[in-house]
Amino acid sequence: AKGMGKNNVRFFDPSMQAALEFRTAMETDLRHALMHHQFILHYQLQVSALGDPIGAEVLLRWKHPGRGLVSPLDFIPLAEETGLILPIGLWVLETACRQITTWASDPVKSGMQLAVNVSARQFRHTGFVGDVTRILHETGANPVLLKLELTESVVLEDVTSVIEKMHAIKKLGVGFSMDDFGTGYSSLSYLQRLPLTQLKIDRSFVHNLPDDVNNANIVRTIISLGGSLDLNVIAEGVETEQQREFLLQAGCLAYQGYLFCKPIPIEDFDEFISSRQYL
Ligand code: C2E
Ligand code: CA
Ligand code: CA
Ligand code: CA
Repeated sequence: AKGMGKNNVRFFDPSMQAALEFRTAMETDLRHALMHHQFILHYQLQVSALGDPIGAEVLLRWKHPGRGLVSPLDFIPLAEETGLILPIGLWVLETACRQITTWASDPVKSGMQLAVNVSARQFRHTGFVGDVTRILHETGANPVLLKLELTESVVLEDVTSVIEKMHAIKKLGVGFSMDDFGTGYSSLSYLQRLPLTQLKIDRSFVHNLPDDVNNANIVRTIISLGGSLDLNVIAEGVETEQQREFLLQAGCLAYQGYLFCKPIPIEDFDEFISSRQYL
């Protein structure tokens, strides 16, 4: 062994160097993405037990000039690390609120709720309550039609201040959905203290229904928990008729997944909704 010399060599590992260069390039690109209007939103339909449209989840996409459509899974972590999630998150919120206002005069879409994902860093930012208030005011969106999706990780840290913030936002009329519910650590005692309106069953519990006995039980438990806490429950990742059937039997009242519609650009979403009216 050559000791130090050998260790130093690892710094020049070409694959590590390439990974670092890739990250730096991504960061530079991400910094320009907002200014260059490279972000778009996709809308994924949410339906009632009867299959009627009740709203949509707003999902972010990055139209990268060289890499095509980049998934949020590939840039949200970097955006969180660099703090770029703050301006990006505001853009998402503002765009969604403007969409709510645009739909306000439509007979079908005026009642639809939009669910917006909020990252941990974004929610913890001191300006968040003020930003939501301002954006609602500036866009004229009906707050009742806006729902913020939080994950359990957001809520776990500093529970008291999180609850305070949630109450301030709920006072505006905005709802809260607990996203990916069941995948994190949720104690029943704090779940009761959070001013939530909805639990969202994570798709990892849905994808092998009804065969997986454990997941079938978890899903039934979440739905009855929602009933006891007076929260509505939505299932995400519903892909098959059998899954829908099981969830319906279990008492689930709201659904989202490829079975109903994939996340699509707004023009396609509008068209999808209008064409459904004539069915
Ligand atoms: P999520 O909040 O759990 O969003 C649901 C993900 O499941 C979406 O992935 C959606 O495209 C996908 N999905 C929907 N239906 C089905 C289905 O039936 N089967 C399967 N296999 N997948 C389905 P997507 O769009 O790639 O988003 C990934 C994650 O990125 C989201 O997970 C969310 O955590 C995050 N994200 C997306 N948009 C935003 C945003 O605007 N802000 C923040 N902070 N995070 C976002
Ligand atoms: Ca979500
Ligand atoms: Ca989710
Ligand atoms: Ca999920």
